[in-house]
Amino acid sequence: MSTLARMDAQALAALHRDLTRDYEALKGRKLSLDMTRGKPAPEQLDLASGMLALPGNRDHLTQSGEDARNYGGLQGLAEVRALFAPVLGAPAAQIVVGNNSSLAMMHDFLVYALLRGVPGGSKPWSKEEEIAILCPVPGYDRHFALAESFGIKLVPVPLTGDGPNMDEVERLVADTKVKAIWCVPQYSNPSGETYSSETVERLARMKTGAGDFRILWDNAYALHHLGDERPHLRNILDACSEAGNPDRPIIFASTSKVTLAGAGLAFLAGSPTNVRWYLDSAGKRTIGPDKLNQLRHVRFLKDLKGIHDHMEKHRSLIAPKFAAVEAAFESRLAPYGFANWTKPDGGYFIILDVMEGTANRVVALAKAAGLALTPAGSTHPYGKDPLDKTLRIAPTYPSLAEVKQAADAVTLCALLAACEKRLA
Ligand code: PLP
Repeated sequence: MSTLARMDAQALAALHRDLTRDYEALKGRKLSLDMTRGKPAPEQLDLASGMLALPGNRDHLTQSGEDARNYGGLQGLAEVRALFAPVLGAPAAQIVVGNNSSLAMMHDFLVYALLRGVPGGSKPWSKEEEIAILCPVPGYDRHFALAESFGIKLVPVPLTGDGPNMDEVERLVADTKVKAIWCVPQYSNPSGETYSSETVERLARMKTGAGDFRILWDNAYALHHLGDERPHLRNILDACSEAGNPDRPIIFASTSKVTLAGAGLAFLAGSPTNVRWYLDSAGKRTIGPDKLNQLRHVRFLKDLKGIHDHMEKHRSLIAPKFAAVEAAFESRLAPYGFANWTKPDGGYFIILDVMEGTANRVVALAKAAGLALTPAGSTHPYGKDPLDKTLRIAPTYPSLAEVKQAADAVTLCALLAACEKRLA
């Protein structure tokens, strides 16, 4: 079999005929598959079902004897902060435990920054004429949508496999309008890459035009390994403190993909100054978080080993799904030589780069055949992928059998779209 690029018109036409026949057969199967979002599968949620009976009747006292049923405890229980300190890479005293969504804490951070300004700044961000946030691409659509919804300009920066292109970042942050950068530093959503130590050092050291610049360090996949490798991620708090910029990073994480996606715990961590600043505003918004859920998590996960053991169970459920997608891409796309895909060691996504100019067409073909894919472009600011080639594949939610069907369907749609493009 020759690559698509080397096929002559006759071979292409014959391939197109075969693919069209296969595609019609696929449509005839009336599939109904959804690979749009990186959600845990029901069996993953079942892993934490023991938690639903916790902390149990009459178990409502915290380590220090507080009544978890009552108001208060704005920063979160000390035992929860101690349990997650090694995951966040921050001392317990510099961690805030929120309710079930880290995205909500990112939202609150931005709202407080816009309305009140952050430590080191001279005025609220909303009082600036224009502000911008750097968006490593491909990236997380909800990060982009959140910032865009507040009128913050989204500036794309390419990822390199080791994190964002730091020459570009250093050039762009010289502009005083650039107030922040989104980062998913480990098993990035969706590229799967982990930032190198050099990238982290450069982010910590770089000269920024804005004196109140923040790195929004969303370590959502800190625990989510798929293979045996454990990446080394340089501690951002240490790197920034050593560089003389202790207030630069704000760390986020959650147990959404550890325990329960809709009922986990979210975390924010940072310098003592940032944590005081956040709590000052958070204390106006709420009298305190759900501490029974915090107690439930401590009782269920117990210690760091408990967390890692639990994540191993997730891994055994989802690693075969990633392997099935990779096997389908390898056997059905590799021979044609036009597509590329990632083979992540962790996280929730695979990127499939199809032939330039065909990603939207692939999504439309898949939709017509009963397979919902994340809209093309969603990995880029404003939903616009200038090359129209990047697709985000989310294999965790469907069953393994469905993932195999879906992966085969994606390869067929990618091939058909590429063939159409070559014939056009
Ligand atoms: N951050 C990243 C990078 C994600 O991929 C996701 C969910 O997919 C979230 C945050 C959402 O986190 P949470 O459930 O804690 O709001």
